[in-house]
Amino acid sequence: MLKVILFLVAASLIVVVAWLLAGIPGHVTASIGAFSIETSTPVAVLMLAVLVVAILVVFRLLRAVWGIPRTGAAWRRRRRVTVGERAVTRVLVALAAGEQGAARKEARRARSLLGESPQTLLLVAEAGRLAGREDEAEEAFRALAKQKDATFLGLRGLLRQAVDRRDWAEALTLAKQAEAAHPGTVWLRQQRAELALQTENWAEALELIGPDPNRPTYYVAAAEADPDPARALGFAKQAWKQDPAFVPAVLAYATRLRATGSEKRAQACVLEAWKRAPHPDLAIFALATQTDSLARAQAAKRLTAANPTHAESRILLARTALDAGLTGEARHQVETAQAEGVHQRRLSLILAEIEEHERGDTEAGRLAQREALRQASTADADPHWQCTNCHADQTAWHPKCTTCGKVGTIQWQTGQRPSGLPVIAA
Ligand SMILES: [Zn+2]
Repeated sequence: MLKVILFLVAASLIVVVAWLLAGIPGHVTASIGAFSIETSTPVAVLMLAVLVVAILVVFRLLRAVWGIPRTGAAWRRRRRVTVGERAVTRVLVALAAGEQGAARKEARRARSLLGESPQTLLLVAEAGRLAGREDEAEEAFRALAKQKDATFLGLRGLLRQAVDRRDWAEALTLAKQAEAAHPGTVWLRQQRAELALQTENWAEALELIGPDPNRPTYYVAAAEADPDPARALGFAKQAWKQDPAFVPAVLAYATRLRATGSEKRAQACVLEAWKRAPHPDLAIFALATQTDSLARAQAAKRLTAANPTHAESRILLARTALDAGLTGEARHQVETAQAEGVHQRRLSLILAEIEEHERGDTEAGRLAQREALRQASTADADPHWQCTNCHADQTAWHPKCTTCGKVGTIQWQTGQRPSGLPVIAA
């Protein structure tokens, strides 16, 4: 309805204008050179209007023709972006589905269509990693690291690659660059802590690692690595304070106390640890200053006084008594331990020595020794240090497994193992 009204109004206006124009009196004469034209004023006005409209139409046509190449380029650009974005979606789907070939192909396609954007470079790198093409991933991560806003992303990828191939020196350099590019990230802190552990920079690891059940291990390792005696004593004390029953921590602290002349405090630490958890390494330390066999037997009694029925206490008392020629006491300790259900190989071997001492090279002595050695061959395994990660046996405790390189995995195992390994001397 509105359109009809507008049409009627417009038509009326045209009629009015035409009527007004037709009513204009006079003539218009135009001369160009020898050519002249004369017409009435209304016709001249109408011709002028037609001329203006014609000029406008021609001008618009020229503009359209002029703009054709630019319009085509814009269209192609839009088309590339559309196809490129589809390729990006396909890469994401392929990565999520673990389709290596499709991910690589679409990532390369997205890169060629959309250029070196952080998104395409990251996709190329991740697709390369998924397909095991670390060279392709590295090239993309390096290109990413050169982009101002994506430097951290590139360095992060390169750092992950360096850690995977255990190139700790390169990883440390990259971690420093990543920290400068984007300081204070939780992920980077964890990575730096892991690197500190792998490169055995224990003091830095302690600064970077928060609450961790292995902190006593790191403190012991830091004490062992630090050439400064005062700092080493500080680290060892921290280890011991955090876990006074952890044998390596007790020994690290006691050893440094002994070195500073605090023998009484060192012995007190070991005595306290023996009360909580007897261990042959503690006995070695406690008896190290005694050279006389009788004095060693006396020292063993003092050490075990607070925990005399523990298997380690009985074995230590038996060993030191036998060394001092007190075979009766040695036999008593061995037989009591066996009666209490301890059937470790070391007990049978001590018993064989006792038989040799008491009966000498006699028929009865040889028979008794053979019986003790037969017992040893079928006895339970002796306790030993073992890696809980790779299960490799270790002759001594280390902060880091010498076989698999894992930190904090060496533990004292009291379970069974195949016999034939050397007896741990008490
Ligand atoms: Zn291991």
